[in-house]
Amino acid sequence: APTETPQVVIDAHGLPYLDSRLPVSKRVTDLLSRMSLEEKAGQMTQAERGALTNAGDIAAYDLGSLLSGGGSTPTPNTPEAWAKMIDGFQLRARATRFQIPLIYGVDAVHGHNNVVGATIMPHNIGIGATRDPRIAHETGAVTAAEVRATGIPWDFAPCLCVTRDERWGRSYESFGEDPALVEAMETVIQGLQGRADGRDLDRDDKVLATAKHFVGDGGTEYGSSTTGTYTIDQGVTKVTREELEAVHLAPYESAVDRGVGTVMPSYSSLDLIGDDRGPVKMHASADMINGVLKGRMDFDGFVISDWAAIDQIPGDYASDVRTSINAGLDMIMVPYAYQDFRTALIDEVRAGRISERRIDDAVSRILTQKFRLGLFEQPYADTSGASRIGSAGHRAVAREAAAESQVLLKNSGGLLPLKRSQKVYVAGSNADDIGNQTGGWTITWQGSSGDITPGTTVLEGIRKAGGDVTYSKDASAPTAGHDVGVVVVGETPYAEGVGDVGNGHDLELSAADQAAVDKVCAAMKCAVLVVSGRPQLLGDRLGKIDALVASWLPGTEGDGVADVLFGRRPFTGQLPVTWPKTQDQLPINVGDASYDPQYPYGWGLTTLTKVPQGGTLTLKGLGIAARAAERAGAKEAGRAIVTKARLLVQQRIGQDITASAAKPFAEADHLLLTGRYGAAVDKLTAAYKAA
Ligand code: BGC
Repeated sequence: APTETPQVVIDAHGLPYLDSRLPVSKRVTDLLSRMSLEEKAGQMTQAERGALTNAGDIAAYDLGSLLSGGGSTPTPNTPEAWAKMIDGFQLRARATRFQIPLIYGVDAVHGHNNVVGATIMPHNIGIGATRDPRIAHETGAVTAAEVRATGIPWDFAPCLCVTRDERWGRSYESFGEDPALVEAMETVIQGLQGRADGRDLDRDDKVLATAKHFVGDGGTEYGSSTTGTYTIDQGVTKVTREELEAVHLAPYESAVDRGVGTVMPSYSSLDLIGDDRGPVKMHASADMINGVLKGRMDFDGFVISDWAAIDQIPGDYASDVRTSINAGLDMIMVPYAYQDFRTALIDEVRAGRISERRIDDAVSRILTQKFRLGLFEQPYADTSGASRIGSAGHRAVAREAAAESQVLLKNSGGLLPLKRSQKVYVAGSNADDIGNQTGGWTITWQGSSGDITPGTTVLEGIRKAGGDVTYSKDASAPTAGHDVGVVVVGETPYAEGVGDVGNGHDLELSAADQAAVDKVCAAMKCAVLVVSGRPQLLGDRLGKIDALVASWLPGTEGDGVADVLFGRRPFTGQLPVTWPKTQDQLPINVGDASYDPQYPYGWGLTTLTKVPQGGTLTLKGLGIAARAAERAGAKEAGRAIVTKARLLVQQRIGQDITASAAKPFAEADHLLLTGRYGAAVDKLTAAYKAA
């Protein structure tokens, strides 16, 4: 704890809310009963720490929360500096009447990505490709341990967006296009928070999670429609009620069941087909926040707005405040004019336009999480865990996640895995660039190319794994003296606001990458690795490529990519989104009436050569079949899934499946089908076993 003495210390000793032996609900009621309207309004205010010109404002305005947002002023970049900064702010909060600790929040969306030297995980799109709830859980646990060790108890993650159009620049923050896959990856919430009842939140390696962005952020329309021209980021999601429920709301049902502590509404608007109100800003949607989230789903955490998002609600600021709080928002990420927000909120309550009951509900929800996090007992950073940040153990988890996330799309002649005896020629813009392979939301909001944080590039991974490696970024003079070329192409980092009409951000490879592929693949057998946040278009070039791998944004551990390239681990990843043939096909999603992609959702070859002994082949990703089965009804369901399973087994082991070879399916102990498909699969498995 800091040694500086707070200016004012009120001795709250003996008050019931400070008694950690009392149940949280009692502590909340006691504290709430003592608080003034001003203090309550302060708890509902979240300021950007860069906006705090005077740290004394924390006490002067009773601020409940601070954040370092994506668009923040430069943040500290060592763990020690973070902990020291946050301790300093907590010390100021101790100088308030009730010494209510701040809750500090950051976007740690793939590891503690604001800190140089932290372990950076694959972005969510890659985690979706693993289809492995265990690794999703572990990445969450590592992230939480690193974040909490810098004194931060709250993470604005995970994004539960179901990406439906990969022109959206935030597609890589999505686990995939299928809500069942998103639900399956929600184990990350337990990794971050621990048990669903919130009892692990006071541990020094757990943080409060945020399910975002509620709801329909991944479903925004691209281009113009009958209701106007939209930007795809923060745009309008126009769907039927049915589609809203099945695709976008479903992942929140399960996240609430998992006890997610906070939910962040989306910047986007919702335009329900058949509802003549037209697009409604999610931050103004009482139907969705009060009605569905807090009402029907019984969400008991608190709702935090997105960055200055209430400002986008039509009307003046007072009406923005009134509309959003009455719609069910509990805390507003202001982030700059925090004084004005707090004043407006107080005025609206005094004028009777926001009820005191609503305020009490909001503050109770916020205080509940602060008590659960143990912040009243330990507001300061417990840096005893700081050595975990970027530790070998944590990097091993990120490496495994990176390996599991690699999707082998094509493998002519079994080019992969590579052999250590082969002479390898490596080229391409993303072969040796840690910034490009970590993507947006890394060190800075938009991310950047280059040597931004310690890690292993794909090239370094290959060098460590292989024998004879030659590297030339632009593929100058690839000679015939090499057995195989590995061309690592893809995107440069970006975060929000990307993908809108006219900003030129399409799914084409850069001219330099195209040239590198052409040169290398003309000279030798070649594998192309696409390091990107979404599918990239290969066009006719695909015919010249022997092996193609979707590497996504694998994070700091390029060793994981090398692991599958050299066969130290099999490729097992499967496409979390459909891989289109052309730009014109977008949006393209499994289940579309006409569906003719380059590679379908769920595609992924494996280099696993035989069914493991003991009959426990793990089959993943039968979502398509399960959905078809659901539509077809019980009897047909069984048949459809059996057929699909057989096809998948064939695809995955590369041999024809006879009745007996399919046996492992019946004995599989691990079918990654959850949520509403679970029942269909259970039925099928039983039917199959009986047959
Ligand atoms: C993003 C959120 C993020 C917030 C704070 C917003 O612009 O939409 O995902 O949590 O900024 O950085």
